[in-house]
Amino acid sequence: MTIDKLSINLATVREQWDLREAVEACVRHGIKAVDPWRDQVTKLGLAESVRVIKGADVHVSGYCRGGMFTSPGAIDDNRRAIDEAAALGAECLVLVCGGLAPSSRDLGEARKRIADGLAAVLPHARANHVPLAIEPLHPMYAGDRSCVNTLAQALDLAEALGEGTGVAIDTYHVWWDSALEAQIARAGRLSKIFAYHICDWLVPTRDLLLDRGMMGDGVIDFPRIRRWIEAAGYRGFTEVEIFSKFDWWMRPGDEVLRTCIERYKATLR
Ligand code: ZN
Repeated sequence: MTIDKLSINLATVREQWDLREAVEACVRHGIKAVDPWRDQVTKLGLAESVRVIKGADVHVSGYCRGGMFTSPGAIDDNRRAIDEAAALGAECLVLVCGGLAPSSRDLGEARKRIADGLAAVLPHARANHVPLAIEPLHPMYAGDRSCVNTLAQALDLAEALGEGTGVAIDTYHVWWDSALEAQIARAGRLSKIFAYHICDWLVPTRDLLLDRGMMGDGVIDFPRIRRWIEAAGYRGFTEVEIFSKFDWWMRPGDEVLRTCIERYKATLR
């Protein structure tokens, strides 16, 4: 069983390794793609990060992350993120769109600011050939991280904005959605699946942000969702993205990568 389409989101090993060490480790394990985070790139410097990634000859399945359109300075910050994604040769810039503005209770206003922000940065993204992947986040994050909470909502935005915008589908955020199968099929018809992220939903979840599970340790039916994604025509990378302060961040990085490979293979069955 091949791992040619496996990517590792580098947040998965961020406590163990810096960007250079993480990329070297992925190569050592035969992994062909990575998704770095901006803070990891900033720490090493953009030019050096580009050298490390090109030197290792790994694909960059995405770049995390842009968005946060309800925060001050978002437009300039997203333009910089687009420039970095272009330099890294990233297949898309992943967008976490932003929660309610500080001291606001107006969800409608937040969603309008997100749509306006996306429209404002889209020309720069198109000019630099960086697709924008809107990632719907689980509704528990509507207050602070994203008011785009379902795949349907993300696709509505991408459909209205047009070329250069699509979605990042992350099992952690969408597994519970009764419309998931239909919306994945819709995303396929629109050719708007730009990224597919996997990690499991643990029961109980002990931390809203940093207790994501390794595939197989929680309740998500990965083979089923994978069939929907494949039926929708997606042939890109499957990216393992696990923030795990109680478990995987405390283990040796090589053990984490070995487990990611094993469990990824199990999702293909
Ligand atoms: Zn994700």
